[in-house]
Parts: sequence; structure tokens; C-alpha cells
Amino acid sequence: MTPGLKILILEDNESDADLLIRELKKSGLSFTAEIVQTRAAFENALESFDPDLILSDYSLPSFDAVTAFQIKQDKYANTPFIIVSGIIGEENAVELIKAGVTDYVSKNKLFTLSTKINRALNDTQARKEKIITDEKLKVINQELLELNQELEARVIKRTKALAESEGRFRSMMETIPQIAWTNTTKAEVVFYNQRWYDYTGLDKAQTKLLGFKAVVHEEDLQMGIDQFSSILNANEGGEFQIRVKRADDLYRWHLIRLMPIMDLQDQIQLWAGTATDIQELRLLQQYKDDFIIVASHELKTPITSLKASLQLLDRIKDNPTSTMLPKLIVQANKSLGKVNALIEDLLNASKASQGQLHINPQPFALSEVIMERSNDLNAEGVYAIVTEGDLQTEVHADIIRVEQILINFINNAIKYAPESKEIRICIEKENDMVKVSVIDRGPGIPPEKLRYIFDRYYRAESNDSTYKGLGLGLYICAEIIKKHNGQIGVESELNKGSNFWFTLPALQ
Ligand code: ADP
Repeated sequence: MTPGLKILILEDNESDADLLIRELKKSGLSFTAEIVQTRAAFENALESFDPDLILSDYSLPSFDAVTAFQIKQDKYANTPFIIVSGIIGEENAVELIKAGVTDYVSKNKLFTLSTKINRALNDTQARKEKIITDEKLKVINQELLELNQELEARVIKRTKALAESEGRFRSMMETIPQIAWTNTTKAEVVFYNQRWYDYTGLDKAQTKLLGFKAVVHEEDLQMGIDQFSSILNANEGGEFQIRVKRADDLYRWHLIRLMPIMDLQDQIQLWAGTATDIQELRLLQQYKDDFIIVASHELKTPITSLKASLQLLDRIKDNPTSTMLPKLIVQANKSLGKVNALIEDLLNASKASQGQLHINPQPFALSEVIMERSNDLNAEGVYAIVTEGDLQTEVHADIIRVEQILINFINNAIKYAPESKEIRICIEKENDMVKVSVIDRGPGIPPEKLRYIFDRYYRAESNDSTYKGLGLGLYICAEIIKKHNGQIGVESELNKGSNFWFTLPALQ
């Protein structure tokens, strides 16, 4: 039941109109009706009565249903319009319905009217609801569209920010001198910096295929993998040391460091890794360890011999005429001298490393010092120490320190090139500097060891159990020369000999 339905009836025949109203009442419909006969009245009623339903005769004397329908359609497209007529044929009715008229009822079959009205009203209601639903859907769609656009904009912004920060991160990784990379929490490497490619000599494809395993020393590989995964599992940073192969196939010790990179939710996003070359550091540590062994042995030898001399002296102390006496005193003094020299070296080295090696420059002729010292060093006359060159040249330097260097060079030539019986000392003036070279024809020094020869604790034959020195002599020489603003160096060829040289400021 539709309560208070407003029905506009367009009908010129009063009895037909009455019939219609009676039929409507009979069907139990609750309604109010307005009956109009002319176009003007129809238009007026559309406005003032605002009907829910229009029932129209097909043809009226001054008006017709088709025109009425068109008028209604202009402003009230949703109001159902049913034609009630006796003269309209089935064909016309179909045409009218095609044009949009809601329905058609024959005056002979008015009993079908209420069903058709109900259907028309239901259809209209459904159409109205559909329109509302469509409207709502449209609004929702629009909102979704806007939300989507906003999300897209946000994603673009985020992606850009991410790309920028990733770009910054990568360029930072390119500026550091170490090998650097990033890997996922599953240990897959995302990125290697250029240093990796330079050091390993691998290109991108080889790196992808072989990865870091190809360059880790086989003895360190398992340990490296274990350490790597235990750091990743512990979720904290960590470090370990492995040997990594360089492009020239040489392995160098590296310190591997891994640090987690967190995201905004404090979750690990990536791992940043670096490999720092610690070869020199490891060597220095090795030298230091060796040095302690060598130093104790070096000190022990003269002390043992001193002890032996003293024991013998003790035995003959009551016999001052013994011929052994002077010999033993000389021997004891010699041992003491060696201990003293070693301690002197140690003190000098520690002074030099702390920058406390002071020099006291004065003018003197190098050749004189050389002659004196070589006579002392070659007291037994085993070696021919030949001095040649600009013998008159004078330098402005610390005579005691320069003597120390010369003694060291000549002693080394005697110690390390014993079969080279001739030692040449060459003095040359080069601009405002004087160059002194001590040349032997000994075994020479392997090229790979040359660069370390002036390092502290370095001994070329570190495995040599004869313990010939502390590896400090050349280091001290280099420090003394540095203090004089001179230069020091060595040229050496295996089985041909060595040329140790230094320069000092010439006396102007
Ligand atoms: P050390 O106290 O061990 O002699 P140095 O610093 O004087 O220390 O020398 C360092 C190393 O250089 C030596 O251990 C030796 O192996 C090498 N060396 C020095 N001079 C010569 C030389 N003339 N010929 C060959 N090797 C040398």
C-alpha cells in the first residue's frame, strides 16, 4: 500500500475519470487525485500538485498523451506515466513504451490498473534507489580515486627519497678507501663499491658468479663464513680477519667489519660491510713478536760470555800474574760493549719513535770520519774499505749521529755480505746535498723486502736463527737522516750486492 499517493489524471471525459477513480478506490489504493483536461491545467498541476503518478487518456480534444508525456519528461523524468485508453492499439502502445512511457492500460481492462500502478511505483522506487546508490558509488569511487592518487604520490615521494638516500649512501661508500659492500639479512650481496673491483680485479659478471668466496684464502674461508653468519645471526655488528686475494694473486690480510643498518621501525634493513687492508699492521705485529725473541737472544749472548769471563776471572783472582788476566778483561769489556750497544739501539729507537731524537749539527769532512771508523771496524784487516769521490766535501750535520749511520752501514755490509771482501764508500756532491753510498758485493736483498728495510723491527731474514741484529739499525739511521732533512735509500740486486745511501746538507 502506498499511503497518500498523489495521482494526476489527464482525462476530458468525466465519466471515464469517475470510472478510473472508482477502480482505484476499489483496488484499496490510498490516494488523492487531481483531474485536468487541458495542457495549461496539466502544466500547472505538475508544478503545484507535484504528482507521484500520472494517468493519461491517449487523445484529448486540445491535447494528447504523447505531448503531455514529453512535457512531464522535461522536468519530472522519474514520475511514472501510464496511458489509460480504449482506442490505442497494441502496436502504438509498444511504440509509446519504447519512447519511455511507463505503461499502458486499456479502458476495457481497468482491473489491471492497480497491478500496473504498483509495478510502476516499485520500478520508480527501484530506479530512485539505484540513482541514490549510483550517486553514493560515484562519491565512493571519487574518494577512492583521490586516495589512490594520494597514495601513488606518496609512493613516488618515498621512492624518490629512498633512491636519494640510497644514492647518498652509495656515494659515501665510494669515497672511503676500503672495500665496501651491502648485503641483505640473508647474506646476499646487493652492492660492491669500486674499490672491490679494483682490488680483486673481478668484473661485475665474475663477482656475481663467484662472489667473495673466490678471493678469500682457502685456509680462512670456513672460519670467515662461520664468523659472517654468526654476526648476521646475532644482529649486532662484528669483525674478523681474513686474507683476501688481490688482482695480482697476492693475499693480504683484511679486517672485515659488519654493521647492521636499521629502518624506521628499528628492524635490520641491510648490512654494511667493509674490508680494511691490515697487512702492514699484521707485519708490524709479527716484527714486534719476533723482535722480543731476537732482543732477548741478542742480549743473552754477550751476557753469557760476560758471565763466563767473570767466572774465569774469579777463579784466577788470587793469581795476578796469570797471562789469562788481560785477555779475559778485554773479552769481558767486549761483551759489555755489545750489551751497551744493544741497549743504546733500543733507547735510540724508542727516542726516535717518540720524535725525541735530537741532533746537534756542526761542519765536518765526511771522509775523515769514514776513514777513522772503517779502521776501527776493520781492525783485523779482513776487508778492503775503499773511500772515493769528493773527499774534501764538508757537511753540516750531527757528527756523532752520522758516525752511527756509517758504522751501521759498514757493519751491516760486513755482517750480511761477509764474502764481499771489498766495501766501497762513495762521496758525491749533488747540488747543496752530499750523497754517501756504502756498496757491497754481497747476496743482495730480495725486491719484495726492500720497501720494509727501513721499518722498525724489520729483519729481512726474520727466520734466521743466527740472530744477527734487532732490526732497529736502519730504522734509527732513517730517523737521523729525516732529522737532517736528507734522504735515505737502498738499491740492491740479488747475488750482485747492495748500495745503501743517504744524503746530508752540504756545508755552504
Ligand atoms: P739488524 O739490527 O737486524 O742488522 P738493520 O735495521 O740494520 O737491523 O737491518 C735490517 C735488515 O736489513 C737486516 O736484518 C738484514 O736482513 C738487511 N740488511 C741490511 N744491510 C744489508 C746488506 N748490506 N746486505 C744484505 N742485507 C742487509
